[in-house]
Amino acid sequence: MDRDILDTNEHIEDEESSLRPASFDEYVGQHDLKENLRVFVGAAKMRDETLDHVLFYGPPGLGKTTMSMIIANEMGTHIKITTGPSIEKTGDLVALLTSLEPGDVLFIDEIHRLSPVVEEYLYSAMEDYRIDIIIDEIHRLNKVVEEILYPAMEDFCVDVMIGKDATTRSVRIDLPPFTLVGATTRAGDISAPLRDRFGIVAKLDYYKDEELRDIISRTSKVYCMTMEEEAKMELARRSRGTPRIANRLFRRVRDFAQFYGDEIITKDRTMQALDRLKVDNLGLDDVDHKYLLGIINRFQGGPVGLEALAASVGEERMTLEDVYEPYLLQKGLIKRTSRGRIATDLAYRHFHITREN
Ligand code: ADP
Repeated sequence: MDRDILDTNEHIEDEESSLRPASFDEYVGQHDLKENLRVFVGAAKMRDETLDHVLFYGPPGLGKTTMSMIIANEMGTHIKITTGPSIEKTGDLVALLTSLEPGDVLFIDEIHRLSPVVEEYLYSAMEDYRIDIIIDEIHRLNKVVEEILYPAMEDFCVDVMIGKDATTRSVRIDLPPFTLVGATTRAGDISAPLRDRFGIVAKLDYYKDEELRDIISRTSKVYCMTMEEEAKMELARRSRGTPRIANRLFRRVRDFAQFYGDEIITKDRTMQALDRLKVDNLGLDDVDHKYLLGIINRFQGGPVGLEALAASVGEERMTLEDVYEPYLLQKGLIKRTSRGRIATDLAYRHFHITREN
C-alpha cells in the first residue's frame, strides 16, 4: 500500500511498521470491532462509497493507528497520518484536506487536542465535504499552504461568497469525499458536536494474554527468532494487555537472549530479562510501583487527589491518567472515587503489605 505518512508521529517508526498487520485477517484480537468494521468496509465498497467517519478510543498502543491503516488498505485507498496538536492553523487543515484523493483516509491521532477553530472547520468538511475560508484569512495562511491552496482552488469547485457586510467574503472549496479516522485516549475530552459527526465510534480494549501471545509469535517470526511457547506466554502476561508494550519488551528480551548466545528464547531468559527491566509479574513497572506504594505509604491507602499523587510520583498528571491508571483500574489495583484514588486490598496483597486500619 502506498502510505503517505505526513507526520511527525513518534510512534510511527520503521521498526514498528514492519510489525503492523496489514489486513483484518492478520489483526489479532478486538474481535467484535474487527468483524463490524469488516461489514462496514465491505458494504461501503459494494455501494462504491467512502466509509463513514470513524472514532477510535482507548489507551495508547492498543492498535488504533494500525486499524486505521488496515481500513485504508481494505478500502484500497491511501492514508494520511497526522495529530491534533500538529494542525496548528486552519490553513494546515485546508492543506491536508485538499491533498486528499477521493476515498482517502485522514487519520488524526490525539483528536481531542485540536484547537477549537480548527475543529469548527472540520465540521463542514466532515458533513458536506466542503470548507469555507474567509478571504481575510487566506492572507494569513502560511506559505506552504498558499502553494497548496491556490492550485487546489483552481482544481476544485471554488465559490466566492459575499457576506452581509460585504467585508466577510469567503471562498468555498469542495473537497473529495474522504473518511476521517480520529483516535483519542480521552473520549471524554471530545466535544459533543465533533463526536456526533462520527458515524462509527468504537472503543479498543486491553488484549487477553492469549491474544498477546499470538502477537508475540508473529513478532518473533518477523525478527527470525524462535521463542518457547511458555516464554511467549510469560511475556504476554507481563505486557499490560498492550501490543506495543509486548513488542517493545520482546525486543529487549531478544537483546538478552542474543547477548548471552541463546539459540532460542527460553522462559528462564524471558523472566530474567523482565526482572532486570523491573517489569513485575503483573506487568507493572517502576512508575506503577511508585504510584501504588505512594498511595499506600504516603497517603495511608487514599483517597488521594491525582495532583498530589502526580507530584509524589514525579510524572505528569495526564500521563498517569491516560497511560497508567486505566490498566491499574482494569486490574482492580486502584479505585477512583469522588474524593480521590484508593489502593485496593489487591494492591496491598501484591506488595505483601498488611493494611493498617
Ligand atoms: P495506537 O495507535 O492505539 O497507539 P498502534 O496502532 O500504533 O497503537 O499499535 C502499536 C503497535 O502494536 C504497532 O506497532 C502494531 O504493530 C502493534 N499492534 C497493535 N495492535 C495489534 C494487533 N491487533 N495485532 C498485531 N499487532 C498489533
